[in-house]
Amino acid sequence: MSTHLPDGAKAVAIDILIHGPRSRAQLAKDLGSSAPTLTRLVKPLLAAGVLVETDAVHTPGRGRSSVPLDVVPDAWRFVGVKLTSESVYAVTTNLRAEVLDSETIPAPSLEVSAVVTAVAGIVERLRGRAGRELDAVGVTVGGLVEDGKTVADSPFLHWAQVPFRRLLAAEMAPPVFLANDVVGLTRAQQWFGHGRSSRDFALLTVGAGVGYGLVMDDRVVPTTVSPVSHLAIDPHGPLCPWGHRGCMSSYVTSPAMTAAVAQAHRRAVTYDEVLDLAGGGDAAARRVVDEAAHALGRAVSAITSLTGVERIILSGEGIRLVDVGRAALHAGRLEYPGARASGVDPVVVRPMDFLEWARGAAVVAIQGVFPQR
Ligand SMILES: [Zn+2]
Repeated sequence: MSTHLPDGAKAVAIDILIHGPRSRAQLAKDLGSSAPTLTRLVKPLLAAGVLVETDAVHTPGRGRSSVPLDVVPDAWRFVGVKLTSESVYAVTTNLRAEVLDSETIPAPSLEVSAVVTAVAGIVERLRGRAGRELDAVGVTVGGLVEDGKTVADSPFLHWAQVPFRRLLAAEMAPPVFLANDVVGLTRAQQWFGHGRSSRDFALLTVGAGVGYGLVMDDRVVPTTVSPVSHLAIDPHGPLCPWGHRGCMSSYVTSPAMTAAVAQAHRRAVTYDEVLDLAGGGDAAARRVVDEAAHALGRAVSAITSLTGVERIILSGEGIRLVDVGRAALHAGRLEYPGARASGVDPVVVRPMDFLEWARGAAVVAIQGVFPQR
């Protein structure tokens, strides 16, 4: 699919992609452009097959300006890859970020060249199964990604200053885009999730770490290493790996929670087991889950107070914490009363699994091809 289109034309395609099919007249109105300008912008999109006129039924008396235009999502193929220290998760999507295929493999090792080879291999297999060329590949990792090019610091992969985009691009034909994993999830919500109805929103993820993404006025606000990960909750709380007492990471991450319950029971436990034990009334697990959920509630209040976002999306692979610790989460939120007076609960929960992370990476690729102005 050709992507050599003027920025103005791409903006029309992006608007239709996010907000759905509309007529030329409605698009001109929504985008604040004149009808002739809109018609000029649409022409190359129709010629390139990016847009189609969808009105199958001809209505007498209706002009061309009333025929709805839509994107052709299946004219495109993107691959998104999310790296963790244990596995490589990959999905193939169309332009609407609908997952068409997926593959998960164990991470070969954390050695950079081995990871590059593994990513190139999984992308090639997905391309082969798609039966056509890929339009772009998006790759996300936990940690600090600079300029979309360099993994500056990833505590999960134990990488520092790795020029990962260049290394990947040398091994594959399609354009490669690199981003932080939470940024990928945030972008997926921005275009294809809850963000479609909110210009301002925050995303808070729980799981192996605590992730934070912020969109203000339709733009992803760049954040360095998650400012919420080590937000102070209780000065008398447990220690996090960085030596903070009672920060978010000391309560909410899956390693912190499993370690605390394992210590109480003198045996190893998994994250799901911690939640199951808490749900079944185990005192130690209940306390750990409630403290984590309470800390999450405090963080939610802090974020809504600090940013004024109208919506906060809770997600991440550890999101079942919200179900098991619902009452404690609520109590934590109430400790900052008045943070939100509109009466509308800003919190929504987005269930997810690891493929959702890979889908976020695919959205990084989609937005790489269709950059938002
Ligand atoms: Zn900390």
